[in-house]
Amino acid sequence: TEPVVAVQGLQKYFPVQRGILRRTVATVRAVDGVTLAIAPGETLCLVGESGCGKSTVGRLILRLMQPTGGRILLRGTDVTTLGEAAMRPHRRHAQMVFQDPYASLNPRLTAGMIVGEPLENYDDMAGADRRAKVAALLERVGLRAEAMHKYAFEFSGGQRQRLGIARALALDPGLIVADEAVSALDVSVQAQVLNLLMDLQEERGIAYLFISHDLGVVEHIGHRIAVMYLGQIVELAPKATIFAAPLHPYTEALIAAAPIPDPRARTERIVLEGDIPSAMNPPSGCRFHTRCPIAVARCRTEAPLLRQVAAGHAVACHLRP
Ligand code: SF4
Ligand code: MG
Repeated sequence: TEPVVAVQGLQKYFPVQRGILRRTVATVRAVDGVTLAIAPGETLCLVGESGCGKSTVGRLILRLMQPTGGRILLRGTDVTTLGEAAMRPHRRHAQMVFQDPYASLNPRLTAGMIVGEPLENYDDMAGADRRAKVAALLERVGLRAEAMHKYAFEFSGGQRQRLGIARALALDPGLIVADEAVSALDVSVQAQVLNLLMDLQEERGIAYLFISHDLGVVEHIGHRIAVMYLGQIVELAPKATIFAAPLHPYTEALIAAAPIPDPRARTERIVLEGDIPSAMNPPSGCRFHTRCPIAVARCRTEAPLLRQVAAGHAVACHLRP
């Protein structure tokens, strides 16, 4: 079957001004050659530390940002350079659930307006039809139909995230990009929202690109996992392989650092020696060599390619396997 999304050699470089006078221009290589595909009904998790470029990949796939290189195919159509009008019919099939349900939903709109807006915009749905569809969506995500008259600010964090999911579902998308969709929620609420996402997937065959720094969450919801470091995928494999038999030293370090027994101690910073180098000036050779416990001389000069090492398992390391 055709992937709901495929990206090939995806790049996002952007210039930044540096220095006291902001005259020096440097290039941030936020995403630097990412290739992946997601099948219908599949959850691909993108994991890595803050600033590794995982959110940028999500935003590029939805064309909320323009890539500077590579290709994006949505259901087989190359949408990389489509203008806004040509992009519009593709947008309904690829929706987003954001991290912060407080910031992403306008508090001055009612739930009915928030969930009904895409129906009005894309399907010209109005009046009783729209209200009925909104009511069904709200009920499906575990809210009451009467909630459509309440304002976004009247909902709890978990309820708001359900509202965001209802809105994303409204147009029956084949793909939902969920960027840290449960990270702002209490641990007890996280599991409920994850289970809702999984039920919806089973029911509707939705594919998820699930972006998270939290391996506990990823272990719950993922089918395959792509590990990112400084703008590149360093390992991609089925979930069981990533957790039981990771090959990349960075993946090993992430697994070793999780799960953290006290969930309140979870932060986006994963414990690993050495600071994360900047994507503005990534290390030469293997980008991980400044923190890698097994680096050899070659790692400083030669960048490892992401190689297929077993069915469905790719890794970018000179020494593994
Ligand atoms: Fe470590 Fe070298 Fe492998 Fe990079 S290529 S992960 S530095 S051993
Ligand atoms: Mg992010």
